[in-house]
Amino acid sequence: MRYCGRMPPFIAVSMSSIPGSGTRPERATLNAAYLRALEAAGGVPLLVAPQASRATVEAIVAAASGLILTGGADIDPARYGQQPHPTVSGTSPERDATEALLVRLAFERGLPVLAICRGMQLLNVALGGTLVQDIPSQVPNALAHAQEAPRGTATHDVRVEPSSALAKVLGCERARVNSMHHQAVDQLGEGLVPVAWAPDGVVEGLELPGRPVLGVQWHPEDLHATEPHAAALFRWLCGVAR
Ligand code: MN
Repeated sequence: MRYCGRMPPFIAVSMSSIPGSGTRPERATLNAAYLRALEAAGGVPLLVAPQASRATVEAIVAAASGLILTGGADIDPARYGQQPHPTVSGTSPERDATEALLVRLAFERGLPVLAICRGMQLLNVALGGTLVQDIPSQVPNALAHAQEAPRGTATHDVRVEPSSALAKVLGCERARVNSMHHQAVDQLGEGLVPVAWAPDGVVEGLELPGRPVLGVQWHPEDLHATEPHAAALFRWLCGVAR
């Protein structure tokens, strides 16, 4: 690729952590689909490990012009003042803290934020909200939000508020999406507005009026090659970042 006098946008991308045990090393991981979807939209990923020092996180955000909060395991319910439901698993207070710092620094700089799945939940919790800790046991008549179909298969509809920024970005008010979550947004974080819902009422999209911040409960990175509305989210992020 040639850069005609303009650098592509650097986008901070949060990573998952896997604890070490015995001879198995502690790791920072990222689903490759995030890289492919971001690169297809013209962005350059700057990876943020959950184990990154505060100085590293600050330096990355200073160099970045956008942020993706990625999916992953459950947020520690202690972050929003609750005891864990028995199904809560894979929590990493270290990752939660790193991503909360990313949100704070990105907001200070006014960076655009795309918050995906756990990322949308993290955004909600970082702004003082809470989560439904387990949809199957806590939401009556819930859909199957933990799909068995492959990640690139859309399995349920979402209805998008027509007047929302999210609808404008997606280019539609109804979308087919994939679904790989057992938790959902409950009480809203400060300033956040729900703008997309599954047919069972589960919140599937959030935005923050007046700021370039969008959250989606689905995984657009796994749909970006097949669903125009999914690729549009990454193009929006890179467009605002430029
Ligand atoms: Mn869902």
